Amino acid sequence: MGPPAFVLAALLVHCVFLASLFDIYFSSPLVHGMAPQRVPLPAPARRLVLFVADGLRADALFGLDGSGAPRAPFLRSILENNGSWGISHTRVPTESRPGHVALIAGFYEDVSAVAKGWKENPVQFDSVFNESKYTWSWGSPDILPMFAKGASGDHVYTFCYTAESEDFGAQDAAKLDSWVFDHVKDFFTSSRNNQTLYSALTEEKVVLFLHLLGIDTNGHAHRPNSREYKENIKKVDEGVKEIASMLENFYGNDGKTAFILTSDHGMTDWGSHGAGHPSETLTPLIAWGAGVNYPQRVASQFFEDSFLQGIWKYVKMGVLLFAQADIAPLMASLIGVPFPLNSVVRKEEVFKRRLEDVRQGKIRVLEKLFLQYSNLVHACFLSLQVSLCKTVINLALEGLSYYHTYDRLFLGLSIAMGFVGWTAYVILVIVKTHTNLAKAAPRHGKVGQKHALFLLSFFSTSQ
Ligand SMILES: [Zn+2]
Repeated sequence: MGPPAFVLAALLVHCVFLASLFDIYFSSPLVHGMAPQRVPLPAPARRLVLFVADGLRADALFGLDGSGAPRAPFLRSILENNGSWGISHTRVPTESRPGHVALIAGFYEDVSAVAKGWKENPVQFDSVFNESKYTWSWGSPDILPMFAKGASGDHVYTFCYTAESEDFGAQDAAKLDSWVFDHVKDFFTSSRNNQTLYSALTEEKVVLFLHLLGIDTNGHAHRPNSREYKENIKKVDEGVKEIASMLENFYGNDGKTAFILTSDHGMTDWGSHGAGHPSETLTPLIAWGAGVNYPQRVASQFFEDSFLQGIWKYVKMGVLLFAQADIAPLMASLIGVPFPLNSVVRKEEVFKRRLEDVRQGKIRVLEKLFLQYSNLVHACFLSLQVSLCKTVINLALEGLSYYHTYDRLFLGLSIAMGFVGWTAYVILVIVKTHTNLAKAAPRHGKVGQKHALFLLSFFSTSQ
């Protein structure tokens, strides 16, 4: 094999190795062709408001400030008096895009997106927004367009500041959030003079999404322990309060609005995110309004995770532990739209917790389900069915994961052996062309050198 052919072969081999990496490990978890499923009950809410405070840490939101007062007084009063709170577990990479995909589409980011540009939708996926009748969203141009682009038809609307004007948040990033709150208020005010918009807003299965980037930006610039980060949490708390009361007014206190506030990921003490530290993966969740249960006071609750235990001591109310991808089916059931087609519930712990809630009637929408059937079905029979369902679901999830990864060992071994073979070949070529070992071999006649010579002749037959 001459030098050009050798270089060409080397390039080819490395291309194959690189491609195999993507082919084996970056395969899409999306499963297509499922029939849409929904909760077969009347939806408790006509509309859902989703606030995502980008980069908001759970301990920063629930914690107290220096004087012992809650940092977010409005949200604090919600979780003490008329809502539920929880911790949603995100997965690595703790970045904005995969976090939002888990929240809104209900599955963990398709890593094949990395190979295809990441920003726009490389793979079509379904989302709660797509299943809604109308979704209006306000916030960053890095997040909103991916859900509008994937949506079928014209029913997901976005209002973004431009990427350049994100700089207007350079002096005070909280302005990014004021921009969103102001635009939502103006939008609702203007709808009073726009009959088409007004009637669309009063439809059922409506979603309003407010993406708030200020806290993340402040966290990167000043770290989560800074005055700026904490002040921004206060601003968001005030903004959420204003939006909630504006909406109650607009809809004449019809009690048909459900609210969810969460974050896409947290942030480390030094102002970064992407990895798997609890400060990055544990994000806050507060839900209130139509279909959401009132808070449960509990005397104590134990968590193995000390970070989680630390958060609980600030609130001392029964906490719900969620996987981030569970929030999408929760939102879908609140407004009565089918679960996003690609959504997946994997965490057995959460499933158990949900079953507990169903049994105790903790979540009102599920409580109704329970009451509806309790007259017909004996409690024992129900619990037998529940445990059967549980087994089937766990088996299905195991199977799903198995079929997503079953050939990885075989393919990985093949690639590893190919790599070892290629390395051996390269070493032999170097030995042959850059040393006189091959020529020296017959003279000394040592066994090892004879072997080397045999291998050399084997590999260089093509010459
Ligand atoms: Zn960030």
